[in-house]
Amino acid sequence: MERNEARVRIEKLRSQLEEYGYHYYVLDEPIASDAEYDQLMQELISLEEQFPEFISDDSPSVRVGGEPLPFFEKVEHRSPMLSLGNAFSEQDLRDFDRRVRQTVGDEVSYSCELKIDGLAVSLLYENGRFLRGATRGDGMIGEDITHNLRTIPSIPLRLKEPIDIEVRGEVFMPKRSFETLNKAKEEAGEEKFANPRNAAAGSLRQLDPKLAAKRNLDVFIYAIGNISGKDISSHHQGLRYLKEVGFKVNNESRHCETIDDVIAFTNSWLERRADLPYEIDGIVIKVDSVEQQKELGFTAKSPRWAIAYKFPAEEVVTTLLNIELNVGRTGVVTPTAILKPVTVAGTTVKRASLHNEDLIREKDIRLGDSVVIKKAGDIIPEVVNVLADLRTGDEKEFLMPTHCPECESELVRLEGEVALRCINPECPAQIREGLIHFVSRNAMNIDGLGEKVIEQLFSHNLVTNVADLYQLERDELHKLERMGEKSVDNLLEAIEKSKKNSLERLLFGLGIRFVGSKAAKTLAMAFGEMEKLQQASVDELLAINEIGEKMADSIVSYFQKPEVTELLSKLESLGVNMTYKGPKPVAAEEIVDSPFANKTVVLTGKLEALTRSEAKEKIEALGGKVTGSVSKNTDLLIAGEDAGSKLTKAQELNIEIWTEQKLVDVLNQ
Ligand code: NAD
Repeated sequence: MERNEARVRIEKLRSQLEEYGYHYYVLDEPIASDAEYDQLMQELISLEEQFPEFISDDSPSVRVGGEPLPFFEKVEHRSPMLSLGNAFSEQDLRDFDRRVRQTVGDEVSYSCELKIDGLAVSLLYENGRFLRGATRGDGMIGEDITHNLRTIPSIPLRLKEPIDIEVRGEVFMPKRSFETLNKAKEEAGEEKFANPRNAAAGSLRQLDPKLAAKRNLDVFIYAIGNISGKDISSHHQGLRYLKEVGFKVNNESRHCETIDDVIAFTNSWLERRADLPYEIDGIVIKVDSVEQQKELGFTAKSPRWAIAYKFPAEEVVTTLLNIELNVGRTGVVTPTAILKPVTVAGTTVKRASLHNEDLIREKDIRLGDSVVIKKAGDIIPEVVNVLADLRTGDEKEFLMPTHCPECESELVRLEGEVALRCINPECPAQIREGLIHFVSRNAMNIDGLGEKVIEQLFSHNLVTNVADLYQLERDELHKLERMGEKSVDNLLEAIEKSKKNSLERLLFGLGIRFVGSKAAKTLAMAFGEMEKLQQASVDELLAINEIGEKMADSIVSYFQKPEVTELLSKLESLGVNMTYKGPKPVAAEEIVDSPFANKTVVLTGKLEALTRSEAKEKIEALGGKVTGSVSKNTDLLIAGEDAGSKLTKAQELNIEIWTEQKLVDVLNQ
């Protein structure tokens, strides 16, 4: 980045971060996610490192927290209450360890604690009595909130020893109390709190202690700020002492001898954190020896002897480079955002669906914009919003085309739909996508026919419809790129094998509108043969459970098309199976008796006697539901050889576990 460009960006980042910080620290009403704040902060810090001439002591990168509110008494902290440096990856933790060892040598160990997502407080005790409590404020001066802190039952008003001590801890609101509070707020028509941290902060900064008392707040004490007359040589010893004199200390801390142990500890909390009754946003790692802590000292903002590891972000900021248009097999034209590659929740994201033109307008998404990305349901990336304040003026509005990017026929918007469609049945994009769908795993499942091969077959004019796949010649296939003897053999074999598929695979593969793989299975089971289905009336279809009007209409009009009749008889003459071969439909009363009735089952590990899909099919035919991951809702886990984390999780959750042999025995009954 050039100097001038950097200066502008730094200014924009500072004012954006100040705005976010004010809403978060002062108003307790964040307007951005923590991950987004952290990412912009990292960008600012890195630009300030590259261009030190722009460093300024009022930058949010060197300031702690926010201003104290004017209506509280101000409290000057005896020693500053600082922030913590952040680590976002294993590498960041190793770098921290390296920096520490450069200063204090290799004899170092760490204390690791949960990073409770609440609000830092300082509690002052004299002669064992609670005297005063304060917020962190700007690190030097906080707000006196003693009246509210006294209402928190886990804050002792008198200690077990008559000591003078100042301690630091985190006040938080348990998840359950947060949900109850927000529900009550909703019922009263009031604005809800964004998260438990802000609910806790908002409650502590009430003027009326009766209100704070109702909020069910709790505390964990994690450090000694000042103590007189007692020699504490390590952090973990300090925690033990705090507990002894009556403070509530979190039980999950761990003393780690190496950075590898620290990393293993942080990783172990990635999944488990969801099971805690309170929110944590990371793990705090502290050099254990107090002597070494002193040697390492502080920067303006944080101690050099501690770092906060933050869990991988589920929302991140990146740049939208371009918008690409894809024509799907049903002709729908979908705009896709092409992004500057970025890691979201552990994987690299380069594209995100923008769904349709309305969404682009609604969110005012422009080419070149900084956008916030998240993975919806942790799988499909989507654009959450645009950071319009970071615009430079070079961003460009995106105009949806009026014509199909593949075949140039005019696009239409069908009544009641937001999507733009290409309705030309000859559109090459639709045909190609239709072929890709036909061979895909849940459809005809033809190994070796990936997107790239289909594209080649298509561009060499070797296939124009799905029947052509069954007439491919050996020497034609040789012409394709990277198609040696062996690949051709394998491919022809896979195509041949697919002819024997049970009817539902073919039905799903045809791509009839609204007929997904589940409906295809229902239809195949109900009709048994393609011919019967071809002749079915809307009423006959509606008589089947799970088939609605929209689907019934679509099926009937699909089979009425002469080109469909022609295609199906062609496929049949080429030897493609047209009958259902799966397990017989089971009568409803039998399902009630089945050991799988209404059970949610997960399969894991290597199965020997059955393939995964066979096992799934059989369990489903007996009324069970097979899902991919273990959760509280799982009833049964089938664990094959070498089962890993799913087995461990099921054991932790006390879920019933069967071996594959037990499954086979039960199925045989
Ligand atoms: P921090 O939250 O990164 O870390 C310091 C704080 O961790 C301490 O003050 C303490 O309150 C807390 N903590 C919890 N458990 C602890 C433990 N066991 N030991 C020590 N400390 C523990 O730093 P910060 O300065 O309080 O806040 C900055 C963070 O706040 C940002 O990284 C961001 O995630 C969030 N923030 C969000 C917004 C937003 O708009 N969403 C705005 C500003 C800040």
